[in-house]
Amino acid sequence: MVSKEKKRFKPFASSAALKTVMTSHFTELAGAAADNKQKIAWCTSVGPAELLRAMGFLVFFPENHAAMLGAGKRAANYIPAANREGYSPDICSYLTSDIGAFITGETPITRMDPNIKGVPLPDVLIYNTNQCRDVKDWFMWYARKLQVPCYGIESFANVDTVTEDHVRAVSAQIRGLVPLLEAITGETLDPERLKEAVDLSRQCSELWKKVLETGANTPSPITFFDGTIHMGPAVIARGTRAPVDYYTLLLSELTERTREGISAVPGEKIRLYWEGMPIWGKLREMSELFMDLEISVVASTYCNSWIYTALDPDDPFDSMARAYTELFIVRSDKAKEREILGMTEKYGVHGIVFHDAKTCPSNSNTRYGMPGRLKAASGIPSVTISGDLNDLRLFSQEQTVTKIEAFAEQIEARR
Ligand code: SF4
Repeated sequence: MVSKEKKRFKPFASSAALKTVMTSHFTELAGAAADNKQKIAWCTSVGPAELLRAMGFLVFFPENHAAMLGAGKRAANYIPAANREGYSPDICSYLTSDIGAFITGETPITRMDPNIKGVPLPDVLIYNTNQCRDVKDWFMWYARKLQVPCYGIESFANVDTVTEDHVRAVSAQIRGLVPLLEAITGETLDPERLKEAVDLSRQCSELWKKVLETGANTPSPITFFDGTIHMGPAVIARGTRAPVDYYTLLLSELTERTREGISAVPGEKIRLYWEGMPIWGKLREMSELFMDLEISVVASTYCNSWIYTALDPDDPFDSMARAYTELFIVRSDKAKEREILGMTEKYGVHGIVFHDAKTCPSNSNTRYGMPGRLKAASGIPSVTISGDLNDLRLFSQEQTVTKIEAFAEQIEARR
């Protein structure tokens, strides 16, 4: 399968710029860790990164680091070290692999640049529980271990409609972080810098949305698997100029590919939607499997999770609160189903792949009847594959291939 995929895949010219953005991010953090001239904050993926940028922090995202451990197929080497600390193998494997790697003293980022000696240690840890409780437990471990302050936002869960009450409650908590962070930087928040960071984050979101929306074209010039790689700048650098420049470049390449009819999956026959976490250590294998079956996975919940179009530079605190609460993972099943049905229609998909990730119940939506309700509402078929984001011991490639092949046959038979 590998050689077949290599022959057919047309690499993105933008990938060189992507590598530069990612490497620069970690090199800059390594510099700050070495000379102590700039404070470093660790932040959860939907923590208030815009506020941290505006207050002069460089920002490191442990979830991104954990995904790198997964993508390098190293996570299972580290998870047992976290288990020995009392963190169960059944909880988030981002948490267990990241903490385990820290205990082991290994990180893939040292391979990006010889100046990087290890993960850049934090001056403060900032979380938002809007995605799950695990992120707080994860950060609290580091707070105890490194003796650094850990603050956060206690968010809502299962939100159907986001109301002004939700926004006010979250906004007040974000504002409450300001004096705590000022005590660390020794500087007062400049409202103009906050406005600028929110504006850049909004621009990043708008561009990333347009990048993903090129997948609505037939054939699609991009797949979910491409998206998991290209989303890097939106994950690690929102609130700065770098992702804005990167997505301007990528969007132009995708627009050109669309104009030329270049398909991410040559011979695209079936279009699917991916629901749930990626299986980081199997991205290549999964991408090749779908390519060989001429299936394009044209859209996903996961890649869309870095679109925060509610951000408004003229109303930074409330709009951050709204953007973080409108996020898919925070919402009720009813709201999630509305979102998925809208996406499947917009992208013209023939079916849904649900990934039931063993250690991430928060981002696995198959466990309470959702696939059946979607089928009843729209007739759209789905298949559920069992696996995990990082712990490959929980994933069976053979079973997955069999399920996906059978699902493709089922879809073909319906057409
Ligand atoms: S949402 Fe899932 S993968 Fe992400 S931190 Fe929480 S438990 Fe881990």
